[in-house]
Amino acid sequence: MSLAGTLDVRPGEDANVILRRATVLDPVAGIEGVHDVVIRDGRIAELAAPGEGAAEGAEVVEAEGMHAFPAFFDPHVHLRTPGHEHKEDVETGTRAAAAGGYCGILAMANTEPPVSTAADVSALREQARAGASVPVGFLATVTRGMEGEELTEMVELREAGAVGFSDDGLPIVSARVMLRALQYQRLCGGTIALHEEDPELSGAGVMHEGPVSAALGLAGVPSVAESTMIARDAALAAYEGARIHVQHLSAAESVEVVRAAKAAGVRISAEASPHHLCLTDEEVRSLDPRRFKTNPPLRRETDRQALIEALRDGTVECVATDHAPHQAEEKEVPFEQAAMGVTGLETAFAALHTELVLPGTIGLGLLVERMAGGAAPFGIERPSLAPGSEANVALCDLAAEWTVGEDGYESRSQNSWCAGRALTGRVMVTVAAGQVAFRLRSFSLGVAT
Ligand SMILES: [Zn+2]
Ligand SMILES: [Zn+2]
Repeated sequence: MSLAGTLDVRPGEDANVILRRATVLDPVAGIEGVHDVVIRDGRIAELAAPGEGAAEGAEVVEAEGMHAFPAFFDPHVHLRTPGHEHKEDVETGTRAAAAGGYCGILAMANTEPPVSTAADVSALREQARAGASVPVGFLATVTRGMEGEELTEMVELREAGAVGFSDDGLPIVSARVMLRALQYQRLCGGTIALHEEDPELSGAGVMHEGPVSAALGLAGVPSVAESTMIARDAALAAYEGARIHVQHLSAAESVEVVRAAKAAGVRISAEASPHHLCLTDEEVRSLDPRRFKTNPPLRRETDRQALIEALRDGTVECVATDHAPHQAEEKEVPFEQAAMGVTGLETAFAALHTELVLPGTIGLGLLVERMAGGAAPFGIERPSLAPGSEANVALCDLAAEWTVGEDGYESRSQNSWCAGRALTGRVMVTVAAGQVAFRLRSFSLGVAT
């Protein structure tokens, strides 16, 4: 199934575009080379020899020196609707996604009220069909109202189109409830995405527990608050033969648990966020909650290195931004009181390209593969540049330098962890589900005559 057939998006015009002389890279499809990418009626019609793609009536993008990748897929986004539209909504959140090169996102269910009924899912899907720039899938909560006690009507929610289930924002504290949820998941499908945190261990912590928290006198969240819960849920998933996805992996201990579970055949997948891959708890010394207060918290350099290794060996199969918009008044307060979370959709690729690819830590191909890796864990077809595929393309200028926030944001919130950073690499054009979803303002497409 194509993204347009699986998720919800505002209907638009099928793209007829040629990316002239683009450097095409799709490691999963085994494509690497300079081609004219011919997009006809919203599909990849052919990868023609450079300069030879037939252009009648198509918009032509002179893409020499630029890279065409399969567009990215983010399985972890907070669109804040219903209830907190002053932070984000379907329209602004999907515009931010398009600007970041994404052709699809999954929205979390910890809204106000949480997405717990079939009617809630249907209403959101309707909003996406009215105003989403890129396809969106909606998760529903595992427990009613995210109260952690009674399960939602999971079968009914699936029938209404919920892509999966998550109480993200909160862990599922009760092992009994978790086991029941896994039993239902086996009946109705839909991956369960887990925010792993043992609240007895995380307590009132506001940052990673270690030397930096001790020096700052701030309450810490130990790594084992995450890893012990992952171990519990991996064991439960193994027992039930169910399918789980671990969200925002942050600690080396957690990487070990996921790696061992995979080796033992557990149906488990995992994501890591750009901020956990690029930053450590040293940043918290600035006491700037707007950019550096997240849950799970930024951890040690050894944790960051473990996450990078997990990205390399596939223990972590995808990058997920955990895009979490907040308004200034929730962030411009003392560190302990500030809201948790940072935005990331508009900067994920550029940040990881700048921080990990340019220094040679990981290869460009690996980054491209992991940026689109968030679809498969939810049973969604992976974006591909293979001819015949629905067109989902991110055209990037890897040499473009820009300062984050200088031209504002597409997101309604400004709590980007990259705010003020100089990044190298920029998304110029995004084609999502066969439609041109974004083009950088200063970058024009020409119409061939
Ligand atoms: Zn979370
Ligand atoms: Zn989240």
